[in-house]
Amino acid sequence: MNFDIIVIGAGPAGSAAATWAARQGRQVALVDKAAFPRNKLCGGLFTERSRSYYTEIFGQDFDLSKVVTRSDIAFWYQSNELAVLHNIPPLHLTMRLPLDYAMFQHAITAGAADYTDCPIAEITDKTVTFRDGRTISGAVLIGTDGVNSVVARYLFGAPFNKRTIGFGLEIEVPETIQKPEVQPLRIDFAAATWGYGWSFPKHASTTVGVGGLHQPNPHMKEHMTAYLESLGLDPTVARFKGHYLPFGDYRKVPGKANVLLAGDAAGMVDPITGEGIAYAMKSGQIAAQAACDALDRQAAETALFLYVSSLKPLHRNLQLARHLRAIIFAPKLQKAFINTFRRSGTVRMKYMQLLAGKIEYPELARGVLTRIPRYFVNALRR
Ligand SMILES: Cc1cc2nc3c(=O)[nH]c(=O)nc-3n(C[C@H](O)[C@H](O)[C@H](O)COP(=O)(O)OP(=O)(O)OC[C@H]3O[C@@H](n4cnc5c(N)ncnc54)[C@H](O)[C@@H]3O)c2cc1C
Repeated sequence: MNFDIIVIGAGPAGSAAATWAARQGRQVALVDKAAFPRNKLCGGLFTERSRSYYTEIFGQDFDLSKVVTRSDIAFWYQSNELAVLHNIPPLHLTMRLPLDYAMFQHAITAGAADYTDCPIAEITDKTVTFRDGRTISGAVLIGTDGVNSVVARYLFGAPFNKRTIGFGLEIEVPETIQKPEVQPLRIDFAAATWGYGWSFPKHASTTVGVGGLHQPNPHMKEHMTAYLESLGLDPTVARFKGHYLPFGDYRKVPGKANVLLAGDAAGMVDPITGEGIAYAMKSGQIAAQAACDALDRQAAETALFLYVSSLKPLHRNLQLARHLRAIIFAPKLQKAFINTFRRSGTVRMKYMQLLAGKIEYPELARGVLTRIPRYFVNALRR
């Protein structure tokens, strides 16, 4: 079978790319090794940024009857409550199984050919061969196969850089042990080094996890155990599950000629909040548009050039966030940041607006950087 575009990976990035291209009349194959619906290890925090991208790309809102929506959040630091914020922009909490399945169904409804539950044996820059022996070809390939991307490995020899990647551990605490409806939505800044801990109440469970840069956290399991104990939970309540996340480790050149990478495969994760669903959908959409434009020009090999230029605003945001991350997470500065966070309503408010997608990093940076001299004074006092 010949297609215009083959999308490899049917998570948020892949389903967004497939939907966007199929709606423009392109022949699209959507490939995944997993059978859908399938779950994915994730906090499942679906921000208003995610929601607005979802609506733009899929043409309708995500069904919020399936999610828990909170307007309050608690921030903790080293077992002390820093602040509880009320009336914040809404934060939605969902399991990935219904979210990803809804996106996948949009892609199929839009006309993408369903190649899920099809493990891949081999790829080239124009073909995908499945383990059952079938081969499909496409003028443009979009690799949206997550952090362990086979497409990134095919292009660059390795899917990610072990020195700069992030890693997270999670458990689902069942409602029989802890009632999610009475649990606060909670973030703990010091639960991991260069990272944080989270407790996210859902309908029938609470997702509890720790995550951060992999290299400074060689003992993430110990962080997880300590975090669960600090929440009054028995660490043996469920088996820890782990997954890499490209925590701001984005690829400046995400592809080669007619082969593009999007979502986690391209490192499109916020380096401070760890938010990846929104950037996966958005980069998938941008990759699909670049592919369609390149095909319109009958020059599939120009897809990467078009993609990189459209990605610039997102890349600038991620780059700025990487700089800010040093202020928020670097052990020497973190206490000063925490003090400022505790005292400054402006910093807290801007942080929440950022999470909600109401502002982007340049505005957060202005709010935080105007307070930088105070950080250093505070840091020097210690
Ligand atoms: C512990 C943890 C917590 C997180 N919490 C949040 C959160 O609360 N909010 C948020 O916004 N982000 C969160 N993230 C990040 C978010 O999960 C990712 O950024 C997001 O899933 C990326 O979407 P994607 O489509 O690029 O990749 P994925 O969602 O990983 O989808 C990739 C798809 O590719 C398929 N695939 C993989 N390999 C192959 C192959 N060889 N052949 C065919 N198919 C393949 C997989 O089956 C999968 O369906 C978290 C990440 C982790 C690890």
